[in-house]
Amino acid sequence: MPSKICLFCNHQFMGRADKKYCNDYCRTALHNQLKSENHKHFKRIDLVLKKNRKILETLFESNEAKKNTVLERKIQELGFIFNYHTHILALENGKQGIFCYDYGYIKTKQGELAIIKQN
Ligand SMILES: [Zn+2]
Repeated sequence: MPSKICLFCNHQFMGRADKKYCNDYCRTALHNQLKSENHKHFKRIDLVLKKNRKILETLFESNEAKKNTVLERKIQELGFIFNYHTHILALENGKQGIFCYDYGYIKTKQGELAIIKQN
């Protein structure tokens, strides 16, 4: 039987060619580790989306949003991350609304956004 390296503990063991772990403990442990890493990844994305939404909501509710526009630079300073959104809607004016849950934005002119709320 060939000598192999366990994918979880990195110890050498003897086993069939298709065996990847020295024992069931290592197999389960690696599986659980991968699962929890996936979970952390999802959680991080959730946090970014919720923070983005909160920033949009705050701007929408603030006086500044009565004018309805905000500088892209300003929203980034607040910690908004542009790559993260939940969905995109085609609006009647031919523009795209980019949303984080119920709040979103439209690019108006260079470096400026209008904050919108989905009904
Ligand atoms: Zn092992």
